Amino acid sequence: MRQQHYFMPTLRDNPADAETASHRLMLRAGLIRQLAAGVYTYLPLGQRVLRKVQNIIREEMDKTGAQEMLLPTLHPAELWKRSGRWDDYGQELMRLKDRHDREFALGPTHEEAVTALFGNEVKSYKKLPVTVYQIQTKFRDERRPRFGVLRSREFVMKDAYSFDASPEGLNDSYRKMYEAYTAILTRCGLRFKAVEADSGTIGGTGTHEFIVPSDIGEDTIVCCDSCGYAANIEKAEVAPAPYDAAAEHAGQPAEKVHTPGARTIDEVARYLNVPQRQIIKSVAFRADGQTVLALVRGDYEINEAKLKSVLGAGHLEMLPESAIVNEFGSAPGFIGPVGAGPSVKIVADYSVRGMNGAVCGANEPDFHWVNAVPERDFHAEYGDLRQIAAGDCCPRCSDEITFTKGIEVGHIFKLGTKYSEAMGAVFLDENGQARPMIMGCYGIGISRMIAAIIEQNHDADGIVWPAAVAPFHIHLIAVHLQDKVQREAAERLYHLLREQGYEVLYDDRDERPGVKFKDADLIGLPLRITVGKKAADNVVEISVRGTGERFEVPEKELWKLIRRYVEPYDCK
Ligand code: ATP
Ligand code: MG
Repeated sequence: MRQQHYFMPTLRDNPADAETASHRLMLRAGLIRQLAAGVYTYLPLGQRVLRKVQNIIREEMDKTGAQEMLLPTLHPAELWKRSGRWDDYGQELMRLKDRHDREFALGPTHEEAVTALFGNEVKSYKKLPVTVYQIQTKFRDERRPRFGVLRSREFVMKDAYSFDASPEGLNDSYRKMYEAYTAILTRCGLRFKAVEADSGTIGGTGTHEFIVPSDIGEDTIVCCDSCGYAANIEKAEVAPAPYDAAAEHAGQPAEKVHTPGARTIDEVARYLNVPQRQIIKSVAFRADGQTVLALVRGDYEINEAKLKSVLGAGHLEMLPESAIVNEFGSAPGFIGPVGAGPSVKIVADYSVRGMNGAVCGANEPDFHWVNAVPERDFHAEYGDLRQIAAGDCCPRCSDEITFTKGIEVGHIFKLGTKYSEAMGAVFLDENGQARPMIMGCYGIGISRMIAAIIEQNHDADGIVWPAAVAPFHIHLIAVHLQDKVQREAAERLYHLLREQGYEVLYDDRDERPGVKFKDADLIGLPLRITVGKKAADNVVEISVRGTGERFEVPEKELWKLIRRYVEPYDCK
């Protein structure tokens, strides 16, 4: 490609509102431009990278036997009502109406569309298993679009769906996708970790996230170097702390004390001059219609996903203040397990068990209990309800754990029969019995991957593309185009390189060499070939963007050197 007319508007300065390296560099190198908040155009250079990543994904998906197809983007509301997600998906679902006032959504994901299709078309176990995938634009009205294409409202995703006749079949389909994702991310030059995204309380490994470690990541992962355990912080299991059951009935009797205005853990701790870890935090929820009081040690937080799974609840929400006053007899801040009514189910985190002499709300405005002892003064069911924290150890081997920030680029999930049951996607088994299909879903964010690749592969001067996803292999630069020898040598090389199957960006602009070199560093192609003064002796310079190595070589030695860094692209 000749650069003179290539539509690649580069920017010298950092755009003011781009907070992350990848966002800045994608704008500056001319890969993307914003059309609206969270909506981006891919310019030719960006589109080439998208295509490279897509091709790698296609190759790895096809290897597993998954079949590419294309589902619609525009979904009738009816489809989403059948699964229940027209209401449950919330404001992230982009909704619109057609001229007949019929409601539609723009697909944020495609479980509904694909389940409806399989429900109609597949009737027998003989046709299963099948895994299909698509590469398509998704729409999500994110509350806070940010960091460019990392969290946008319109983005490209590869999503795949597996349909099996048995749980063992699903395990097999899932394993193939896990391996394919590992291959895809590795080929794209990403360093990543596949982490459990399953709450340990329901057991098993029903879902994994593929996380690219990065300081700008919104996820935190917990890893153990000793045994290899890795999980999303939200889902990481917390091992129950040892406690002394004999101590349960010991200590002073509980006593009700006046704590005027002290509602929060911090206020209570100050007022009574006790550490936060001595206070029981009590939070009221409604779980499938049942009032639940969840307890955790004052210095920890309740994790709602874990609570939901311990309760086996389908729907969980915080109890509104008016309902709390009704059912507990006091405002939040003064509620607690001692003396809570019989209609309230009390569940406590393991951290509460063995809290001897605890402080908790007295279900009376401006009063708390002190010296409360679990199982003496109240009964609870115990489980893993809190988020893992610094100071905790590995739930598997009890060794030290580390916390790392990262970007979620992929997510694979065993869905089971959630959608096939809701939408009636059934097949007849060997015995002629109708059974719901057993599904898995597998998503990888292609736009987000590109941002993640740049986050992990850049320096102060610009992007440093891994060769497999670089928009071109080689940046060819003639230092002085007016010099006939240089120009002719560069032209000849441009043709030769392309003949050999390399993708070449040829800077044929009449610009100062400094400008050309700066742009080349910014764009970050793996190799740069500079044709300068020594062209007269048939010598050119080749430099490697990733390592900074430079070699001056006679032209005939060029080819061996290039092959060391990039493979020619098979452009048939
Ligand atoms: P997040 O927690 O970041 O919102 P998610 O759990 O909603 O992600 P999934 O529904 O699992 O994401 O979608 C699959 C993949 O799509 C994600 O792993 C991510 O790579 C990508 N993705 C999701 N939301 C966005 C977005 N707003 N912009 C760009 N990519 C996204
Ligand atoms: Mg999301």
